[in-house]
Amino acid sequence: MTGTEELTRLPARLGGRLCLDFVNTVDPRGPRGRDYLPGYVALIDWAGATEAVDRDVIDRARAAAATWQATEAYHEAISLRETLYRVLRASAERRQPDEADADALRAAVARLQSRRLLVTDGTAWRWAWSGGDPLRLPGWIILADAIDLLAGAGQADAADRANLRVCAGQDCGWLFVDTSKNHTRRWCSMSGCGNRSKTQRHYQRLRAKRASQLTDAEPA
Ligand SMILES: [Zn+2]
Repeated sequence: MTGTEELTRLPARLGGRLCLDFVNTVDPRGPRGRDYLPGYVALIDWAGATEAVDRDVIDRARAAAATWQATEAYHEAISLRETLYRVLRASAERRQPDEADADALRAAVARLQSRRLLVTDGTAWRWAWSGGDPLRLPGWIILADAIDLLAGAGQADAADRANLRVCAGQDCGWLFVDTSKNHTRRWCSMSGCGNRSKTQRHYQRLRAKRASQLTDAEPA
């Protein structure tokens, strides 16, 4: 997904799930990609824009953005993002993740479990988040979504898992859930990577045609 979004501060959210939009904050994926989350404030702005994190958590995190704890939380979040990208991409490509990434993910999940609280109002039970660490809470919420996508037993998670794709655009590397009717979506966005791929194929065909005409015209 390169192109028009360069002009805006936040990347388009085309993944179809919070964790996919998070790993799609480097555009394109790869060493020359632009990182939309260059610091903690950008990370919190992005998390706030997704509306997946409560406003009061965002406000508390933003208030502490200048502290060294925020810098630490930022580096942890970016490290998690890169681990998640590699693991989710491996899942989309139906291959095993690197063992080091699988270990890093397991370690992150072990930390996540201590942040989740099982609470009850007397009759119903639900998961809630421990509010003690607003700086890291956005990362925990994203990680929980990734775990549901990778291992959730529910029907919706299983369907998303089966339809997890890597954009076919050259060098793009963005991940998305293909919710198209026939499951034939190939690109993160039709207007970006889709159009570019079509234009590239058009010029490749023109070049091939010209080359064959030149060959035909060569004297025997
Ligand atoms: Zn793409």
